[in-house]
Amino acid sequence: MTPTPAQPAAAELDPTPLRMRKALGRFASGVTIVTTAEGDDEESVHGMTANAFTSVSLDPPLVLVSIANRARMNAKITETGRYGVSILAGHQEPLSLHFAGAATEPDLVRFTWRKGVPLLDGALVHLSCSVTASHPAGDHTLHVGQVEELWFDDGRPLLFYTGSFRALELQDDENWGF
Ligand code: FAD
Repeated sequence: MTPTPAQPAAAELDPTPLRMRKALGRFASGVTIVTTAEGDDEESVHGMTANAFTSVSLDPPLVLVSIANRARMNAKITETGRYGVSILAGHQEPLSLHFAGAATEPDLVRFTWRKGVPLLDGALVHLSCSVTASHPAGDHTLHVGQVEELWFDDGRPLLFYTGSFRALELQDDENWGF
């Protein structure tokens, strides 16, 4: 007879904030810098690191970012109605730490502007978006953006898994894109 597997204790099934972080950290993601600007000058740019980014629709082209209500970025996106998403390349971990407030690397920060939105130089993908809807969701807000312009390159992405930055191992360096 096959033994019945032991059932987890109630505490092992409880979706506390810490356990949510640990469980959902097992969903591997890329890393983005979300940017917005109140004007058309670099002084008015604000950026932050985000991995709660997803593709929503191809036609119309929609994406979303989930931003903590307490993040400065949340009020800024609400105010400007626009944001950029730069999907980071494998070598851009220092930028990710910088825009998460965990390190200071101002010399690495270089912006390219598309459709009035600042984007990070050296990223694999640039999306310029206008906000079509913002949905409050617990301690975050989901900002759905219509992609007005996009640009992409081939290369190794920066990955985030179980709270750490990771590199993608590829067999064939020629097959980065599709
Ligand atoms: P601040 O903390 O004030 O700014 C962030 C940093 O960016 C500061 O160091 C600031 O100096 C720098 N900065 C801002 N603008 C510029 C500029 N124009 N030029 C140069 N530097 C600038 N939080 C979420 O809400 N959603 C997520 O999906 C998310 N994913 C994350 C993924 C990872 C891998 C990491 C490490 C963090 C993530 N965070 C996420 C946390 C978030 O990045 C931090 O809480 C961040 O500090 C919030 O930014 P803020 O808007 O409050 O601004």
